[in-house]
Amino acid sequence: MVLSTLFKGPMEILIVDDSSTIRLKFKSFLNVHGFIVHEAESGLEGLDLLEKNEDIKLIISDLNMPEMDGMTFIEIVASNEKTKDLPILVYTTELSPLVKAQAKSLGVKAWIPKPFNQNKILEVIEKILLN
Ligand SMILES: [Mg+2]
Repeated sequence: MVLSTLFKGPMEILIVDDSSTIRLKFKSFLNVHGFIVHEAESGLEGLDLLEKNEDIKLIISDLNMPEMDGMTFIEIVASNEKTKDLPILVYTTELSPLVKAQAKSLGVKAWIPKPFNQNKILEVIEKILLN
């Protein structure tokens, strides 16, 4: 199913990850499924893109990144009136229960473990956007 056909236009997603390989992987497969993907290589760049683009409907973020890490990025997104309702998925190798609990308390909707599993990721995105 092309998920974005369920919405008015192509659904826009922001992917925040310092690895260009991971960003490309997300972008390629999400494009195939009809999404428009914006890429940021740090939390700082992610905030800048959110500021410029009000059509972004979902964020997928890494945690370990230089310049501004994912948790700081998520904290700022969650405390900003304009972005606080945006669903956030976290994609990382970080599995500490403490970190998970912190992310959850900030409103993170889902935790996607590495390695990259397209079907699993699509399933999670679908569940959140259709909710
Ligand atoms: Mg990283």
